[in-house]
Amino acid sequence: MKLTKRAQSIKPSPTLAITAKANRMKAEGIDVVGFGAGEPDFDTPDNIKEAAIKAIKSGFTKYTPSSGIDELKDAIIEKFRKENNLKYERNQVVICCGAKDVLYNIAQVLFEEGDEVIIPAPYWVSYPDQVVLAGGTPVFVPTKEENGFRITGEDFKKAITSRTRAIIINSPSNPTGGAYDAKHLEEIGEIALKNNLTIISDEIYERMVYDGFKHVSMASLSDKIKEITLVVNGVSKTYSMTGWRIGYVVGDKNVISAIVNLQSQSTSNPTSISQKASVEALRGDQSTVDMMVKAFDERRKYIVKRLNSIKGVSCYNPQGAFYVFPNFSKLYGKKLKDKVINSSSDLAELLLEVKVAIVPGVAFGDDAYIRLSYATSMDNIKKGIDRIEEFVGKLS
Ligand SMILES: *Cc1c(COP(=O)(O)O)cnc(C)c1O
Repeated sequence: MKLTKRAQSIKPSPTLAITAKANRMKAEGIDVVGFGAGEPDFDTPDNIKEAAIKAIKSGFTKYTPSSGIDELKDAIIEKFRKENNLKYERNQVVICCGAKDVLYNIAQVLFEEGDEVIIPAPYWVSYPDQVVLAGGTPVFVPTKEENGFRITGEDFKKAITSRTRAIIINSPSNPTGGAYDAKHLEEIGEIALKNNLTIISDEIYERMVYDGFKHVSMASLSDKIKEITLVVNGVSKTYSMTGWRIGYVVGDKNVISAIVNLQSQSTSNPTSISQKASVEALRGDQSTVDMMVKAFDERRKYIVKRLNSIKGVSCYNPQGAFYVFPNFSKLYGKKLKDKVINSSSDLAELLLEVKVAIVPGVAFGDDAYIRLSYATSMDNIKKGIDRIEEFVGKLS
């Protein structure tokens, strides 16, 4: 059957592809250390599971309103009020099937042919494809490690044309772990305001921050910036609920209502049971989040130190999320036996041969780097970094 140009333009998610390959090797009994995971390695907390079980047993298993249940909207509104000092009404909230689905829906209702969307690189893998699927054009703006992988005001301004509609900011960032403080956000916010742009602020890692970094929501900077900002978040990362598929966005009520209409003709509603579980996630005991963040922090410190001690490798110290994004480009041109390493993909392939799975930086728009997730046990991290160190030692 003939596929549309649209369908042919989609690349499969490279992060999921690496995880699948590593899992196949594991299934064959090969002892692979996987640094590919894009999800916490902890189980969903029991209180959340119990809330879901209760929802099933009480028969809360039917369609819900397309936009999601009021109880969850209220829990989300409460979260924004308490944690981000932001006020929203129910008609400014929509709950979708994961933050990825939120972002997809935003692209569908905001972008069309000719529209340009500024995406600072390195970027999360789905942003460009989602923009393209909507008919828009991603405009990549490279960032620098010495700027904490943040887009500078100057570079942002230079990338704006009469066709620019929006910028996507992800702080803390997947893949770099870089994060924007209030001052940096304000600079971006003011430029967006002046140029009539929408800001899509993906804050899914807001709770995973380290070294005393304080997450500030883009929308909280001023009333004017709030008006042009769509804040995207979800329960996947914070509560280790990736499989439950609940994400949400708050902002302009016309955009929200367009998303609700779109959703009413596509997925109908996010899973009823997962919505009830998410109410418990947002309102219930938060101590498991603290426990998780503390564990991530210990691993982060260890992995950064170990990577920086490998000759030819340098690793940025991330302020958030659960990834490190070390630069391996000093090793490009070196050889393992007769194989020359020329790219992050070459590295990914050779590392898999020594039973280490990583994601090449090229997937995120920067070939000098690779991404390692530390959402895996300390034992795995030690074993994996030992293997990488040994591998680098063999290069000539
Ligand atoms: C994981 C992730 C998402 C999507 O999460 P969902 O599971 O779809 O809620 C969105 N943005 C970034 C940056 C992510 O890492």
